[in-house]
Amino acid sequence: MRDGKKERATEPLRHVFGPVGSGRLGVSLGLDLLGARICSFDCLYCEAGVTEALTTARKPYVPARRLLDELAAWKAAGHAPPDVVTLGGLGEPCLNSELGAVIAGAKELFPDLPVAVLTNSSLMADPDVRLELAQADIVLPSMDTLVPAEYHRLNRPHAAVGLTAIRQGLLDFRAAYDGKIFLEVLLLAGINDSVENSELLQGFCRELAPDRVDVVTLSRPGAHPGCQAASAEALARFRAALGGFAQDAAAPRRAEGHGPAALAGPQLEALAGRIAASVARRPQTEAGLAAGLDVPAAHVRLALAALVRAKAVRERREGDAVFYSGLAG
Ligand code: SF4
Repeated sequence: MRDGKKERATEPLRHVFGPVGSGRLGVSLGLDLLGARICSFDCLYCEAGVTEALTTARKPYVPARRLLDELAAWKAAGHAPPDVVTLGGLGEPCLNSELGAVIAGAKELFPDLPVAVLTNSSLMADPDVRLELAQADIVLPSMDTLVPAEYHRLNRPHAAVGLTAIRQGLLDFRAAYDGKIFLEVLLLAGINDSVENSELLQGFCRELAPDRVDVVTLSRPGAHPGCQAASAEALARFRAALGGFAQDAAAPRRAEGHGPAALAGPQLEALAGRIAASVARRPQTEAGLAAGLDVPAAHVRLALAALVRAKAVRERREGDAVFYSGLAG
């Protein structure tokens, strides 16, 4: 009879990322709560790629038990502890209906570490989500624009997600939450770098009183061609408008949607190079690549998304499986 525990311990970790350096959080061990590009937004700038499932439905997309087993396996492997455990993923982590159990379980496993959650804020109007999130030590919500037309053009939300509800949900959360709020504003040139937006965000920050604000822009091309990084002038203007809340330090970029442990540029490029070389030899699936290269599937997914966007590999569906091959394949 096979030893189930031993078998689990040797399985690759599909949902634990890193740890990697995060400008906002230090050395961050990430957890992907979605396992796929499942999001309530389909942002123009999303470097995770186009949202595959645009939804507001909360479900155990990856069950808490599975996530916590992986975290426990990572801990048992004797790695040096990170500075923080960060919950995110290739989409919106609050869509995972077992978010509360994941936060509680992560805190139990790492009682000395803060637990952080990245979110696009879209579910903040839901009191259950606010209650679950309140267990975290740090919440990093996004709010790119308070101008409705810009919001629709930039974040391309599910029809059920209204901007006014997000704004109020964040304020309600702040009122009941003792932990830290690190707000992120991502600017794109000609889309949400308007004076109107900076004025609205300024008033909002005054009400929200976040612990810090990071004004950032694209570091690499986003999911949709044509979106351009904001200028240094626009970044400086927004940082000045958001006053004492904004950070002057080089701000981190959202590199894979809300994935907490995004691969840094050179690491991602290196992995993409290995994948391109491997699929040039024979077509492979994401899972096959993760096993063959011995890297987390989420990292492979990110690198594949970049390669597909760059038209450097071919993507072909066969039944339920998606295969990647070289351009000559
Ligand atoms: S950037 Fe974040 S919120 Fe926007 S589509 Fe990507 S994962 Fe979703």
